[in-house]
Amino acid sequence: MSVRMRHTKGHTRNRRSHHALKEPRLAKCADCGEFHLRHRVCLNCGKYRGKVIIDIEKEIAKREEKAKRKKKELEQAGIKENKSEKDEVKEEKSKKAPKLQAGELSKK
Ligand SMILES: [Zn+2]
Repeated sequence: MSVRMRHTKGHTRNRRSHHALKEPRLAKCADCGEFHLRHRVCLNCGKYRGKVIIDIEKEIAKREEKAKRKKKELEQAGIKENKSEKDEVKEEKSKKAPKLQAGELSKK
């Protein structure tokens, strides 16, 4: 692009003086006293303006179950994958080695 006007370091810095990040606005929960984002549900007790929006205990139980399932799946898949990965690496090495040797021999 064509340069329209001279701009100095000062101009750049003046412009960027407004780019700083501000701290998020927090409000105290009326029920549990924990800080939460304004106009958002309190994630500690699951209430918004005194009404229960999220059943926190259920959510925690759900997350724990999900984590357990994922762990099991990873363990099952991990045992299989690890073996296959190691085999692949060995295969790659065995493939690369003869090629290099062949190249070196041809150079010599
Ligand atoms: Zn709360």
